[in-house]
Amino acid sequence: MNDFEREEISARSDDSESLDFFPPHYRVGRTKFIVVTGGVMSGVGKGVCTASLSHLLQQLGFSVTTMKIDGYLNVDAGTLNPYRHGETFVLDDGTECDLDLGTYERFLDTTLNRNNYMTSGKIYARILAKERRGEYLGRDVQIVPHVTGEIKYLMRQKAQEGPYDMVLVEIGGTVGDIENVHFIEAARELIRDEGRDNVMYIHVTMVPWSEATGEQKSKPTQHSIKKLLEMGVQPDIIVCRSKHDLQRKVREKISLHCNVPIDHVISSPDTESVYTLPALFQEQHLAETAISRLRLNMPYPAEGEKQVPFVSFLRHARRKNPPLTIAMTGKYSTMKDSYLSITNALEHTEPDEGVQIDVRFLDTTEFDNASPAVLKENLNDVHGILVPGGYGVRGTEGMIRCIRYARERQVPYLGLCLGFQLAAIEFARSVCGVEKATSTEFDPHTQEPLICLLPEQQQIRDLGGTQRLGGHDVALLPGSRVQAMYGRDMVHERFRHRYELNNDYKAAFEKSGVVFCGMTLDQSVMQILDYPAHPFFVATQFHPELLSRPLRPHPLFLAFVQAAKKHQNPS
Ligand code: GLN
Repeated sequence: MNDFEREEISARSDDSESLDFFPPHYRVGRTKFIVVTGGVMSGVGKGVCTASLSHLLQQLGFSVTTMKIDGYLNVDAGTLNPYRHGETFVLDDGTECDLDLGTYERFLDTTLNRNNYMTSGKIYARILAKERRGEYLGRDVQIVPHVTGEIKYLMRQKAQEGPYDMVLVEIGGTVGDIENVHFIEAARELIRDEGRDNVMYIHVTMVPWSEATGEQKSKPTQHSIKKLLEMGVQPDIIVCRSKHDLQRKVREKISLHCNVPIDHVISSPDTESVYTLPALFQEQHLAETAISRLRLNMPYPAEGEKQVPFVSFLRHARRKNPPLTIAMTGKYSTMKDSYLSITNALEHTEPDEGVQIDVRFLDTTEFDNASPAVLKENLNDVHGILVPGGYGVRGTEGMIRCIRYARERQVPYLGLCLGFQLAAIEFARSVCGVEKATSTEFDPHTQEPLICLLPEQQQIRDLGGTQRLGGHDVALLPGSRVQAMYGRDMVHERFRHRYELNNDYKAAFEKSGVVFCGMTLDQSVMQILDYPAHPFFVATQFHPELLSRPLRPHPLFLAFVQAAKKHQNPS
């Protein structure tokens, strides 16, 4: 396009405000949108509420997917510190994203992709690239309509991808945050474009308990709804998170002041397990309310066939056994959300194994120089030790001490990613006699680079999105313990790492009794390590926790918990 042509187009494009943000062949009304916003404070469990409703709708026979929108300018969650934001979840296609995507995958028992996740950074990157390509035809590029248009475009693209009956879209943060104004504006425009029957809004809010007056307080919710109304959005359903069940009079107040029928005010009290929440919502007919608001036909199940969501967790919640204690020895242990998928994967084993797992979070930065007595004091009564993933040298000597404790005292050990690398380092130092063994991540000039950069990583300088990411096949060693745990010869697992085991040391390990029983298909990279002389000493370069599902616990977690049970009750 020459400058003259560009000027011509720009003159023409000034005429109209209505730009087209519909993907080709998009059919308005084919997919309904449920937009979920949050109020009062973040971190109240909006993701679990969204996932629970999705699960109920899915159980009723609708095809459903769930998107997460985050306001920050990071393009993805890959460079976020888990200590500040909680765990980074990894999708099969390698997308590094918010932990809510993990919750959705677990509740919907599905595999999501990069189009289920959107950040302001991703939107702006797309818009700036388009602007450089000259696609805006000379117009000034604005938050409205261009940014909001891009957001709506991506929502519609997701809807078409299924095509889905419903797309639930969770907007991160709380109403009033400067970061998510453009997302709420896009949600407001959506009902105008798609029609009233095709879009609805749910607001998840927090109802605090006042110690002084001994009652629940609805005022913060009222304020947050006012804020939402100012932005042009009237919620259809208000989900109230609170410590206890919502009091009748609070429900009435919220209904009156916030302009929703009383049965559209949903109580969401704290529960022992997140997997009991769908049943709680079902009792309050949340899915049915959404379905009738969206003028869909309710697919009534035949009498007696009523589905009870996650029934095994409901039954299990009533059981009380002495807890099985698993030590989570990582460096982000003071922020429990850093290891959300791991605690979920442990919880998934509970109904099958009939156990209550008590996860003891231990911050290994405090063990870097700990004496055996201190370690014993902290680990003496645990039934299993787990070293999770992580980055950087801080806390790793503490983790190595915990692994040594597990190996020497026959305590079941499960190592995940960094936990694989550190298990190898501990074993090499203590058993193979490679005293200086370490990772080049911790000491780039070490004489014993037992763990070193993957070959494809050598030239990479940028940190964002450049690790070995996402789902890859792993070949299991026939006849090995781990192959028996899986009951398969090949598995597909999710990865997120830059470093790997240096094969120059492989023979030394094998001589000392370590079996590498999982590897890349070309057998060049070792990905599972087992020490069969120990009751359970298994470590993986991948993250099995990301694939564990409530009704399908991951085989390695099951085997680990079984070993921990044996350790608790040696027969
Ligand atoms: N820091 C290690 C690596 O990059 C481990 C990564 C992880 O635990 N996710 O390989």
